[in-house]
Amino acid sequence: MAEQVADIALIGLAVMGQNLILNMNDHGWVVCAYNRTTEKVDKFLASEAKDTKIVGAHSLQEMVAKLKKPRRIMILVKAGAAVDGFIDKLIPLLDKGDIIIDGGNSEYQDTQRRCQQLAEKGLLYVGSGVSGGEEGARFGPSLMPGGHKEAWPHIKDIFQSICAKSDSEPCCDWVGEDGAGHYVKMVHNGIEYGDMQLICEAYHLMKTGLGMDCDEMSEVFTKWNQGELDSFLIEITANILKFKDTDGSPLVEKIRDAAGQKGTGKWTAISGLDYGTPTTLIAESVFARCLSSLKDERVKASNVLEGPGEAEYSGDKQAFIENIRKALYASKIVSYAQGFMLLREAAAKFGWNLNYGGIALMWRGGCIIRSVFLGKIKEAFDKNSQLTNLLLDDFFKDAVGNCQSGWRAVVAQGALLGIPTPALSSALAFYDGYRSAVLPANLIQAQRDYFGAHTYELTAEPGKFHHTNWTGT
Ligand code: NAP
Repeated sequence: MAEQVADIALIGLAVMGQNLILNMNDHGWVVCAYNRTTEKVDKFLASEAKDTKIVGAHSLQEMVAKLKKPRRIMILVKAGAAVDGFIDKLIPLLDKGDIIIDGGNSEYQDTQRRCQQLAEKGLLYVGSGVSGGEEGARFGPSLMPGGHKEAWPHIKDIFQSICAKSDSEPCCDWVGEDGAGHYVKMVHNGIEYGDMQLICEAYHLMKTGLGMDCDEMSEVFTKWNQGELDSFLIEITANILKFKDTDGSPLVEKIRDAAGQKGTGKWTAISGLDYGTPTTLIAESVFARCLSSLKDERVKASNVLEGPGEAEYSGDKQAFIENIRKALYASKIVSYAQGFMLLREAAAKFGWNLNYGGIALMWRGGCIIRSVFLGKIKEAFDKNSQLTNLLLDDFFKDAVGNCQSGWRAVVAQGALLGIPTPALSSALAFYDGYRSAVLPANLIQAQRDYFGAHTYELTAEPGKFHHTNWTGT
């Protein structure tokens, strides 16, 4: 029988798994590596894992036998059937109280189902969001674990040692019950779509509206990165814009303008629709990628459909750039406000006890949306854990207020110039809708009652439903 030497096993030796194993090894944990294609175990042990404490296994039985108890097994494979396949194979090999952790990008409903399945077998299950890409996995990811809370004391030290740190606090804490970890990761990814789209719209306005070249735009983003927009995505945008191809021209301008997607932004938007939460900016960002990918259709339409003519702005350039920055910042605040609204709605639906300030801290370092701004979100929830909406926190209320006139000017100017700003403008529409005591939905109610007898309430008598015979027939 193999000696129980390993603190944890990790299944899946693609980029994420290998890097996470090396990260765990750096922090003193003994990891047992396993992969479906077992040649990859040997290759890994002979290369990246050479001269480390990492051990390998060529079968799940061998892997399980090498683990200390309670056994901790992390799966980092392609999301979906591959995860279920491993769970099914592991169940008969494990004892009650052993822990399976899925660190892939699984759908939260799958995690909920697996939690239930494993609880019936007496096993503990954790679905953990892992963010930060391969670099994060290697040197400090943001980790968002949720599921069976009894597992947390057994994995906490490993997780909090390998994760990113923000002001020496770990960017990892227990998120909540069943699918909460993967749900929070999904919303993180949706917000990531929003942040990226907002940056693209700022770039589009500067490039097309102001005729700026890539070096000039790179300088603007570099400057923005020194202020309230300080974030990983603004930083890499500045770097991308100044990156030159071998012929000396900016590489980014040669890249086909058709965006790909893997689905997590779409899941967030779908979840917003499912739970009646207006996550409009994330949804617009997903649709903006869809529209971009209709490249051939757009090229044809560009020869047929007319715009306003002149697409260049003739006013004060520096003032307009500052307004774009304000529009971006205010829209970003709206996007996060919407993301946290969705988390609150899901928490209520599933009975999760989410720690919103803790979630902001988990995103503060290690992940793609890491930014200084998330520290302010943490402060807002630390001040008031029951905060209904980020926009109502004094800091964010004032921040949006200060940006407001520039934001409106940019959205209006984008429309006049014919430059699409779906995320900037939908954020503004949300802001104006959310701050409106009265919206035109009274007319919708009347229309619904007119054609479908769906009834309406009177403002003076909420809760009491009326129907009117609108045609008198
Ligand atoms: P990946 O390309 O998503 O998956 C490759 C791994 O999955 C390999 O170990 C492969 O084994 C295994 N696999 C695939 N199909 C399988 C099946 N039917 N049965 C058993 N094993 C199967 O790897 P990755 O990019 O490292 O990502 C791992 C997980 O982390 C994914 O869920 C991904 O979405 C998530 N994630 C990735 C990133 C990133 O930046 N890449 C960031 C965060 C989260 P073989 O070697 O035998 O083919």
